[in-house]
Amino acid sequence: MTGAPLHDHLFSRIDAARDDLVALTRELIRIPTVNPPGDAYAACCEAIGKRLAQRGFAVEYLRAEGAVGDRDRHPRTNVVARIEGSVPGPCLHFNSHVDVVLPGGGWTVDPFAGEIRDGRLYGRGACDMKGGLASSIVAVEALLEAWPDFPGAIEISGTVDEETGGYAGVAWLAERGYFSKPRVDYVIIPEPLNKDCVCLGHRGVWWAELEVTGRIAHGSMPFLGTSAIRGMAAVLERIERELYPALNQRRTAMPVIPEGARFSTLNLNSIHGGSAEGGEGFPSALVADSCRLVLDRRYLIEESEDEVRREIVDLLDAVRAERPDFRYALRDLWSVPPVMTDAESPLVRALDRGIELVLGRPARHVASPGTYDQKHVQRIGRLKDCVAYGPGILDLAHQPDEYVGIDDMVEAAKVMAAAAVALLSGGKVAA
Ligand SMILES: [Zn+2]
Repeated sequence: MTGAPLHDHLFSRIDAARDDLVALTRELIRIPTVNPPGDAYAACCEAIGKRLAQRGFAVEYLRAEGAVGDRDRHPRTNVVARIEGSVPGPCLHFNSHVDVVLPGGGWTVDPFAGEIRDGRLYGRGACDMKGGLASSIVAVEALLEAWPDFPGAIEISGTVDEETGGYAGVAWLAERGYFSKPRVDYVIIPEPLNKDCVCLGHRGVWWAELEVTGRIAHGSMPFLGTSAIRGMAAVLERIERELYPALNQRRTAMPVIPEGARFSTLNLNSIHGGSAEGGEGFPSALVADSCRLVLDRRYLIEESEDEVRREIVDLLDAVRAERPDFRYALRDLWSVPPVMTDAESPLVRALDRGIELVLGRPARHVASPGTYDQKHVQRIGRLKDCVAYGPGILDLAHQPDEYVGIDDMVEAAKVMAAAAVALLSGGKVAA
């Protein structure tokens, strides 16, 4: 079969599967895989695994025993399903995380019912990312029907804990070879970056805790002590005066969206200083001997983690030069370097052509302000050909009344199917 009739078959099968796509997404939303603590992971993975086993996939359930967060009450169970084609060839893997964040307040619909209104499917995880997961499953099922003798192999995984770092999910699997050659060649992560966007990567993260220490004294004689809060205030003043203007000048060449995230950013995540209140809500008369600040610094591909840390250390040393009693300790909490897949890679080109074919307009290349599981595929799996592509609007993720557009899911499924044809055929059947 040549390119055009195959695509016609694929797309009409996906159109015919619209109700099934909606039903599958609702089924997944109704399994409340809230993380933390990591509820109902096994139930969700079994729903995916059972469906794919019926389509001929070999299904593995993999509990990340010994990983962070895994315990008997909340087992970290992942599912990986694989189907072999008629002849050897490349393997395309669709990876979705099954966990969702807490619903929180402000909902006008039941967050775990999967209600439909005006062509939108509502629920926690609808856009991030059970809609994308369902789209990838329906795309692959249509491909198996329209092209039963496809070459290569296709994998679909449902993995846990992406919202808390992915250490018992993609990272754990990547350490065991599930995201490396020769097993896998291309990975598409259907995160909600909009149906016309290919997400090439993300910015880096450096989280650190700064503790300023002082000397305790009676609150009526503060001159006998050293206030850690005043020391921290000097740090904050310098951050406002010097660091923020400097960060606002640094713009990346990466296509990060939204525009504000194209610059280096710093969030002052939390601050705690002084002693807790005494009995009956009465404050203790003490000079604060400790004040802690958590920094959430998002950095650019043009910066290095060492430079980012050095910039803070230099600022702290400048404060110390002005304040002889100033003492501090800086502790790294977590870091992830930026990642970016080459826009000219076959994976990106296949998705670009799929978007043009289905939507009739050129694809946009974007990068994410925050990290997602691509980091583990690239760093642990050493697989470069990994991007995010999926339906849904990123801004709705983690919000009340989260939804995914049903038309968007159908169109994204077509793009995924067209890209799969191009990648598995090695470009012989062009998208
Ligand atoms: Zn997500």
